Amino acid sequence: MKKKLLYIFLLLIFLLNLAHAQQLTLKPLESDKITPGMTEVMDPEVKIVQPGITDSDAPSDAIILFDGLDVNSEWEDSQGAPTKWIVEDGALVCVKGSGIIKTKRKFSDVQLHIEWRTPAEVSGGGQGRGNSGVFLQEIYEVQVLDSYNNRTYRHGQAGSLYKQHAPLVNVSRKPGEWQTYDIIYTAPTFKSDSTTYSTPPKVTVFHNGVLIQNNVSLRGPTVYVGIPEYFVMKHGAASLMLQDHGNPVAYRNIWIREL
Ligand code: MG
Repeated sequence: MKKKLLYIFLLLIFLLNLAHAQQLTLKPLESDKITPGMTEVMDPEVKIVQPGITDSDAPSDAIILFDGLDVNSEWEDSQGAPTKWIVEDGALVCVKGSGIIKTKRKFSDVQLHIEWRTPAEVSGGGQGRGNSGVFLQEIYEVQVLDSYNNRTYRHGQAGSLYKQHAPLVNVSRKPGEWQTYDIIYTAPTFKSDSTTYSTPPKVTVFHNGVLIQNNVSLRGPTVYVGIPEYFVMKHGAASLMLQDHGNPVAYRNIWIREL
């Protein structure tokens, strides 16, 4: 028995030495035989997109959702009827009590550019001042609020993923000035139970060109009262929606790219 163990031990030593010897005899990388072209991929060629005149202007592959003139071709109210929101001086203005508006088109992963303006004449405070919202897939709100010298709960101010993520910084312009959101959204995937995310919705937001949400994950739909996780329900592509929160918030230059 002892002899057997000794043989196994010696065999192991032999094998280890052999492996070590092989390592030492490996040749160094023969980089002179690798040309740059061997690691360069040519096809398929990257699709060409014509950029806008400025970075706020729609590139050639964007869908224009509001061009300052017509609202009814792309938007409707919650009942599928023409909206009562009005177009005024090239801006789409929320009319109190008229309800949300949503796009007729349905979207999944997108890049969205949208410009918004809270009333120059300040009235109300906290959540009651210049409140609206950009709802991704109808249920995930990027808050729109007059957050210029207007404290409210931090994950409810402008640029928050409402009640889930506060913005990294408050980069709000004064009331009455136009502001921009550039949003990158990745739609969720669902587990077989349909009430749990396999991969959660993910959102990146630039507010007036400044990164304020860095690919954050959502816990569930936006809820005013309750726990977001309890409201997760499987969904597919859905509309982009703008909120009527009773304040005459205006929007313009809305375009979207499907990713
Ligand atoms: Mg809101």
